[in-house]
Formats: sequence, C-alpha cells, structure tokens
Amino acid sequence: MVKGTPTMTSRPPDRDQRQAWLPGEPTRPKASSAVTDKSMRPPLPSLPESEFDDEPRTTEVSLRSEFAGIPNLGAERALLLRMDGVHAGLVIAIETLPFTIGRHATNALRIDEESISRFHARISRDEQGYFWVEDLRSRNGTFVASERVEKRRIEDGAWLSFGAQASFRFTVTDLREERLFRRLYESSTRDALTGAYNRLHFDERLRAEVAFAARHSSDTSLALLDIDHFKRVNDTYGHQVGDVVLSEVAKLSLRSLRTEDVFARFGGEEFAVILRGITLAGARKLGERLRMAIEAHPIMANGQAVPVTFSVGCASITCTDKPSAEELIRIADRRLYLAKAQGRNRVVAEG
Ligand code: GH3
Ligand code: MG
Ligand code: MG
Repeated sequence: MVKGTPTMTSRPPDRDQRQAWLPGEPTRPKASSAVTDKSMRPPLPSLPESEFDDEPRTTEVSLRSEFAGIPNLGAERALLLRMDGVHAGLVIAIETLPFTIGRHATNALRIDEESISRFHARISRDEQGYFWVEDLRSRNGTFVASERVEKRRIEDGAWLSFGAQASFRFTVTDLREERLFRRLYESSTRDALTGAYNRLHFDERLRAEVAFAARHSSDTSLALLDIDHFKRVNDTYGHQVGDVVLSEVAKLSLRSLRTEDVFARFGGEEFAVILRGITLAGARKLGERLRMAIEAHPIMANGQAVPVTFSVGCASITCTDKPSAEELIRIADRRLYLAKAQGRNRVVAEG
C-alpha cells in the first residue's frame, strides 16, 4: 500500500535531499547514504481518491508500472524549461554544477543566438543548498524576473533571461515531473505515428533556420521526400501496412541523418529535412543516400516485404534572391514534382 505525499517542491531542500543531489555535484557531502538507502526512498504519491472514484483506475496503474523499479524517484531534479521561441517547452536538466550557459560549444547549455555571449552566465549551488545565477560579464545581460543581475539567488519558479530573448523557468522538481515535462514537449512537437517532428514545429524551425542562415551568411537546405505510389501500398496491403511503411521510412531516414538535421512529417506520405550548413550539392547527396537506403531495404509489414521508393526535391537558400521558408518550400516542391514527372525514385535539385 502506498502512503504519503510526494516531496516535489521543498525549497530549500532538507539535509537528506541535499545529500541525494545529482551525481557529480562538487559540494556533495561524503556521508550520503540517507536517500540512496531503499528504506528511506520517498514514497510514491497516491492519486487523489475523490476525483477519480467513478473513473476506471487505468491512469494510476500505468503511472505506477512505468515508474516501478526506478531508484530514487523522489530525488531532486533541477531543470530549466525554455519559455520562448521554437524550443518553448524544451526541458534542460542541470546535471553538473556549476552549469554554464553561453554561445560557445563547451558550455553545459549552448545557446546559439546572437545576443548570447560566448560564456554568458553560470548556475551554481552553495553549501546550504541554495541555487544562484551569476552573469559572466555578458554583453546583453542576465535577468531574473526582468531585473538585470550580477549574481542572484534563485528559487523554484524563477524566470531567467539571457541576452535579448532566451528565457527559461528554473524549477526544482523530481524525476516524475521531469518526465512529464519531457513527454509534453515531445507530444507537442512530434508526429505520433512516425516520431518525426510535426508540421507546426517544422514550419517554425524552417523560418528560424532561414533567418539564422541569412544572419550568418551560411547555407541552409531543404529536402522534400514523397513516397512513390503510396496509394497503391494502401490499396494493395491495407491502411495498417501503409502506417507501418510510413513509420519504417521515418526510422530508416533518421538513421542516415545528423542529430542537427530536422526531420519532419510534412504531410500524409511526405517528409521534409532541414539541413543547417549544407549546400544544395550536399542536400542532393543526402537525398540520394536516403533514397538508396530506402530502396535497398524492403520494409517488412505483417510478414511480407513491401517494396518502397521515394522521390526527393531539394532547394537551398542560394537558389533564390529572397530566401524565406515559403520560397524554399515552393522551390523544393517544384523539384519534387519534376522528380515524379521524370519517373519517380530519384532526386532533383535543379529546375
Ligand atoms: P505519387 O507517387 O505521385 O506521390 O503517388 P501517391 O499514391 O504516393 O500519392 P497520392 O497523393 O495520390 O496518395 C497519397 C496517399 O497517402 C493517399 C493517402 O490515403 C495516403 N496517406 C496519407 N496519410 C496516410 C497515413 O497516415 N497512413 C496511411 N496508411 N496512408 C496515408
Ligand atoms: Mg504526396
Ligand atoms: Mg506519394
């Protein structure tokens, strides 16, 4: 029987919880067995009884089974939740302390935005367990609740901003809530069937990437992929097999991409890839690699091999005098249409 209430938001943390703080914390005391001892593990919470009495209890069951066996469920987790722009909702765990924030790649949190200094700010924790944010003489400042600060103690819920717009909510919570935040972010940005980014996220990212490329005079390319004769797949094998094909195509494509490539479901049987820093020639090469990977790999669904190919149209911001997300899509789509007209199962990057 599970009793008790969760210890989600104790600020400042009590002594035992401080000792259970994230591994690697420099100030962690040596005698830290209190919470790692299973008998002292904070109990799982019960769901409120009254609200759910008439409801099937499936939520409670799945909650408990999902977290069964995870040690230290109630251990504190310090997080930053992104509050602005295309990454709103993104969850960043403060895993090491001090935790540095800046544009340089060696920061614990790298923010690649113009108004962020190379080493902009730092989050640390003192011996009493309090968290602090400190500006590292950044050009555009560090703010707590809109007030520019040099060094300031921060509490759960503090609103932090760096530079012109990068904003975060600082929160101290537990693994359970961290997972919920992560799942909410995923479900708001991903397509449920394929796991690719959804169209809304894609549109926002493409706009941001085009603006970034214009600011930095760098390349950004777009590849639009459309499965050939997909209607036939549905007609021949059934809609469910069609769904498996979509999800396998996404899985195989993702394997050929870099982590920084944005792979999205653009429409029904169409996918799109935003390629930061990649020229038109590079986009064509990548399209060809994806095309060959799919062609060479018959997709198994319901025990049968379903042959699948797709066509690709590529565009880059160098293809137009007035680069915009809409223009890039228009050019890539025109080339995709050409690939279809030329016989499908091919990549077109001109015309
Ligand atoms: P083309 O080579 O010219 O692209 O031909 P196509 O058959 O792939 O293109 P068309 O636009 O005629 O048909 C696309 C089909 O994709 C029709 C639609 O039912 C199917 N489709 C769209 N979304 C889904 C989905 O989520 N699951 C399944 N199974 N089918 C889908
Ligand atoms: Mg289509
Ligand atoms: Mg198609």
